[in-house]
Amino acid sequence: MDTRVGYTATADVGHYIGGQPVDAAGGRKQAVYNPATGAVARQVHLGATSDVDLAVAAARAAAPAWADTPPIRRARLMLRFLELMNTHRDEIAAMISAEHGKVFSDAQGEVTRGIDIVEFACGIPQLLKGDYTDQVSTGIDNWTLRQPLGVVAGITPFNFPCMVPCWMFPVAIACGNTFVLKPSERDPSASIRMAELMTEAGFPPGVFNVVQGDKVVVDALLQHPDVAALSFVGSTAIAQYIYETGARLGKRVQALGGAKNHLVVMPDADVDQAVDALIGAAYGSAGERCMAISVGVLVGDAADKLMPKLAERAKKLVIREPMNSEAEMGPIVTRAALERIEGYVARGVAEGATLVVDGRGHKVPGHENGFFTGATLFDHVTPAMSIYRDEIFGPVLSCVRVPDFTSALQVVNGHEYGNGVSCYTSDGNIAREFARRVQVGMVGINVPIPVPMAWHGFGGWKRSLFGDMHAYGEEGVRFYTKQKSVMQRWPASIAKGAEFAMPVAK
Ligand code: NAD
Repeated sequence: MDTRVGYTATADVGHYIGGQPVDAAGGRKQAVYNPATGAVARQVHLGATSDVDLAVAAARAAAPAWADTPPIRRARLMLRFLELMNTHRDEIAAMISAEHGKVFSDAQGEVTRGIDIVEFACGIPQLLKGDYTDQVSTGIDNWTLRQPLGVVAGITPFNFPCMVPCWMFPVAIACGNTFVLKPSERDPSASIRMAELMTEAGFPPGVFNVVQGDKVVVDALLQHPDVAALSFVGSTAIAQYIYETGARLGKRVQALGGAKNHLVVMPDADVDQAVDALIGAAYGSAGERCMAISVGVLVGDAADKLMPKLAERAKKLVIREPMNSEAEMGPIVTRAALERIEGYVARGVAEGATLVVDGRGHKVPGHENGFFTGATLFDHVTPAMSIYRDEIFGPVLSCVRVPDFTSALQVVNGHEYGNGVSCYTSDGNIAREFARRVQVGMVGINVPIPVPMAWHGFGGWKRSLFGDMHAYGEEGVRFYTKQKSVMQRWPASIAKGAEFAMPVAK
């Protein structure tokens, strides 16, 4: 594919089950848009319960042999998939830009961060090594090992159609599970390309399956007795629903939800660095990132120093169609999302915030029907306002002014979400206190978007994550495996006679 042209395929996007493409059973379809032009680019099939049954049956049939495959052989196939992902990185990035609207360099970055997890999963023999104690009692040894769960499922959001699935399926599959992915119906193509590459890499049919669709598919996965665990990433209301329903049905669930990420700027911070950080983290990917910065907490005189520079930069942001190499920001994913975002800007004005830069109604020449909005900047926002409380998920930066570090920390810790946070300062003690006291799962010190690397694991606190374990990294390996303890002795070391007291080490 010529990535300069972008992704232009018009064929329907269907499922991928048992190592091959499959059309949906029920005939329901939904339009997938090109957000830069506003035109319908292709249709995605919306799965029925019978499609989920087919995919879970394929995954279940493949599970015993796959679980029995030695980890080193599973890792070798993952290594082949890693090579293919690297080879096809730009092709997948172009698909993402075409359906999501994020600029091509950002989409390349997304695929690269997904590939990082594939690379991590290639080390699975080391990660699955158990613990062993020789001679826990005379003639007895005890060891623990981790075994796969069976069929596991992933439900993913529109904003990272490659990276977020890669948080899940490479780790789950390397651990010996088989997988059913339900991607976002708004940008479904990358998932199918990855499924094709998994087959090309040599994974047996049924190890990785994709079922496109909406709530019907999600509910069928939740209810299916053969699905042992679900990983979800998306908005908080759905995350809570998935967690509660899955837990009630006895499934293991990790459900990552929404966010409202703050960036605190202390008066001693380097002003230009803080401005760069806020502009990139608030408006990159049009703010459609769960780790985007949507609140600037400006401490003391930092506000007066930053605000003119933020306004100047927000106004000059280069907004183009995503394959344009000059573009710093592309369109919003759908018209409905655009209208929701611009609705929040109107609400912020009505609530009394100062609208410093108004991005509403932004038009890109030649793309007048695209779902574009400009960068919006608010000052004098308070925690009582809906533009502060709600996740807007668009290019809207709300700035709150506070007098000191203690009140900055109070603002951050008072929010219901706790995904990511950042503090810009040149004071080591402030940095240390901030990192220790803040009630947020992922913290950046002079780093605006602290998305942990593949081997560290990703997860927020409070209403940003339901469940006990973070995604990927060693937590991911724990999530996708269950621990077994084996205690062994051999006839020569067995003492004669039944024991009636609780056994202790002898
Ligand atoms: P979403 O919650 O609308 O959709 C996520 C998934 O759930 C999709 O696959 C969708 O088809 C499915 N879904 C939607 N409505 C459903 C329903 N009623 N019942 C069952 N399933 C349903 O989220 P989105 O708009 O695709 O993505 C943006 C959201 O995801 C934001 O809230 C963002 O913060 C969040 N997100 C969080 C993280 C994180 O790591 N915490 C990462 C990325 C995105």
